[in-house]
Amino acid sequence: MAEELISKLKAGFHWETGKIDQNKDYLSELDTPIGDGDHGNNMSRGMDAVSESLASKKPETIQDIFKLTAMALISKVGGASGPLYGTAMMEMGKTSGTTSEALPILEAGIAGIEKRGNSKPGEKTMLDEWAPAIEAIKTGSLTQGNLDAAVEATKGLVATRGRASYVGERSIGHIDPGAMSKIGEGLSRLIKEVA
Ligand code: ADP
Ligand code: MG
Ligand code: MG
Repeated sequence: MAEELISKLKAGFHWETGKIDQNKDYLSELDTPIGDGDHGNNMSRGMDAVSESLASKKPETIQDIFKLTAMALISKVGGASGPLYGTAMMEMGKTSGTTSEALPILEAGIAGIEKRGNSKPGEKTMLDEWAPAIEAIKTGSLTQGNLDAAVEATKGLVATRGRASYVGERSIGHIDPGAMSKIGEGLSRLIKEVA
């Protein structure tokens, strides 16, 4: 059983890598008007490193999968999103050693981002995608439509954290690139499926 979970997690991360690679240009485009235009490149480099690390190091526990993922993201992404996602994975790994339930693992992930980023939902960041994804897990309403709507809704928010906060009110009307990379949604689906 544990082996099945592990192979599903590895396959899930591999799938996320493909999805990010495919949308690399779009994610960087979103980061251009309100940031420095590198989010897609950052995430693609990071997720490629995740796939490579999982393939070569062949982790045998769920904690090790998260730990390797965290280390690859922290060391390869470069931008703010690297340490933020990396911290999320690190905390998820720790919590997966104490429970096999989806919700506390995901909640540890989002708490890690909030702590590291000194941020909370509503500030036009990746948290505005993570929070609705986790809420949807709680209420059993994780659908593509709901999550797409949550990402779209970041258009209406003023950025008060990260680079986008430099343009202030002018960030209104633009989707947050970190929300569009939908790692929160991807992980919620994955963890829900395997936990
Ligand atoms: P950088 O801004 O350093 O170039 P990226 O472009 O890779 O890094 O990532 C930008 C994304 O990171 C933003 O779109 C936002 O979602 C997220 N982000 C930035 N700062 C924070 C923060 N303090 N808390 C949560 N998310 C953040
Ligand atoms: Mg950027
Ligand atoms: Mg950058």
